[in-house]
Amino acid sequence: MEEIPVRVAVRVRPLLPKEIFRHQHVCVRIVPNTQQVIIGKDRAFTFDFVFGQKSAQDQVYATCIKPLVLSFIEGYNVTIFAYGQTGSGKTYTLGGGHVVSTADEEKGIIPRAINEIFQSISEHQNTEFTVKVSYIEVYKEELRDLLGHETSSKDIHIREDEKGNTVIVGAKECVVESAEEIIHLLEGGNGARHTGTTQMNEYSSRSHAILTITVDQKVDKLDEELNKVQDAEETFHTSSQVISSKFHFVDLSGSERVTKTGNTGERFKESVQINSGLLALGNVISALGDPKRKSQHVPYRDAKITRILKDSLGGNAKTLMIACISPSSSNFDESLNSLKYANRARNIKNKPIVNYNPEWDRIDEMELEIHALKEALQKYHGLIASQGSQVSQDLTGEHGKNRIRVLEEQLTRLQAECHRYRTSAEDAFNILLELKGLTTLPKIQERKLQEWLDAAEEFQNKNSVARVDSGGSTTGDEPNLHTVLQLKRELKKCQDALAADEKVFSQKEAELKRLQARINTVLQENKVHLAILDDEENKQKLQVTVELYTFI
Ligand code: ADP
Ligand code: MG
Repeated sequence: MEEIPVRVAVRVRPLLPKEIFRHQHVCVRIVPNTQQVIIGKDRAFTFDFVFGQKSAQDQVYATCIKPLVLSFIEGYNVTIFAYGQTGSGKTYTLGGGHVVSTADEEKGIIPRAINEIFQSISEHQNTEFTVKVSYIEVYKEELRDLLGHETSSKDIHIREDEKGNTVIVGAKECVVESAEEIIHLLEGGNGARHTGTTQMNEYSSRSHAILTITVDQKVDKLDEELNKVQDAEETFHTSSQVISSKFHFVDLSGSERVTKTGNTGERFKESVQINSGLLALGNVISALGDPKRKSQHVPYRDAKITRILKDSLGGNAKTLMIACISPSSSNFDESLNSLKYANRARNIKNKPIVNYNPEWDRIDEMELEIHALKEALQKYHGLIASQGSQVSQDLTGEHGKNRIRVLEEQLTRLQAECHRYRTSAEDAFNILLELKGLTTLPKIQERKLQEWLDAAEEFQNKNSVARVDSGGSTTGDEPNLHTVLQLKRELKKCQDALAADEKVFSQKEAELKRLQARINTVLQENKVHLAILDDEENKQKLQVTVELYTFI
């Protein structure tokens, strides 16, 4: 089976009025003209699609959903699942809640996709369509039918059919004729969904909800072979082909951690269940992103949600994950987690060879570090170049040569002075050493003298070591000579650079001369042409005059 990639979109919602009121800051931004999201200072992630705070519902739909709806009509199975912490915009983006009362431009993916499906159906005159809808939720690892309140959870099962496709049996499937009918069923189902109050979102969804639209198409096809044989009789024979495709819209429960919502008691149990489902989903995504996965077990069976989504992850469906992100700095950790989670899903598709491993984050960080270092290096080079040109400016030309001469003279003067001091210090050392042996001094003076002698000796030793280190010479002039040589070398380099510049200038000048010559030639030619033109004009005038006279 051909592997169909999972695509990942990220949508960052705007700050909510209550967040603005609490002076919360934005910590997530989109890099313009890229598919990159940056969280915090510099954690960057790249996805298939990114939508910023100002992205409109129709933009999201047109960019990444419409092509999937068209594929669905072609017969592909499609799954869209929304992931993110409670309050990050999953339901808003999917558009599964309060559909009827929502203004048209605010409508999310589901109502837009449903309209498109029915629009497309009305355009296929030769096809017979049957549209069915089911709406279930996974609540605390139990399946619930949101369309058939009388259906018991125990009667709903996840099975594999004879082709290996995942099917949910026992849930009510309603046959529908219009988009409005689906919306009506959806609203009814939402009323039955489990919602609860947490500190984060008043009606936070506590369950995974899965709306499934199945379309069976019976395509009437001209049997061309028979037509060819019986062309004379102009008889058309038709045969039928049935295509059945499923569209899952999955609104996953909030991915927030228990501590953040302040959930306790029953709510705490729910959070644990919710997160275990999302954890299982994460494990499936990781396993599928592993290049060794041919031999690796993919833990679909660990949770109901992963069993239901089996076809959508590593199966035969076209799948889009929409990671919804809150931009608020107070949700930084959750947003970062969601981006990491979404990034793993992207691995299934984009880099089947690159395995997700714990080093992944470190690699991200290292890439950023390398980037920062490269920038720093560039800046440094710029600085060196400007300083270099300054030095070359300072040291070239007559003025530069004079400066070097002055510096060299100064250096020689200082060397001589230094030499004098050193000799005097050595003489003093020897004299004091002799005196020390000859006279008995008061204790305090004797101690002072000894200290001075020790310090002088130490200084002498250090000096001789330094001289040996710098080439074994003990003349003392060597380091200064070294500096002069270095300066001279630098000057040579600058002079070379100047010569190269001069060469370029002379080339440019030659080119300029060539162009000037060409312009002159063209001007000359132009003059000749003008003269010919004048000539022709005069002839023409003469001709007209002659003709006029002849006529008279
Ligand atoms: P979730 O389903 O993830 O818990 P919701 O979809 O309920 O989150 O969104 C929480 C709040 O944020 C709602 O009031 C919703 O209207 C608002 N919201 C979410 N996304 C957007 C968006 N892209 N633009 C404007 N408001 C948004
Ligand atoms: Mg929701």
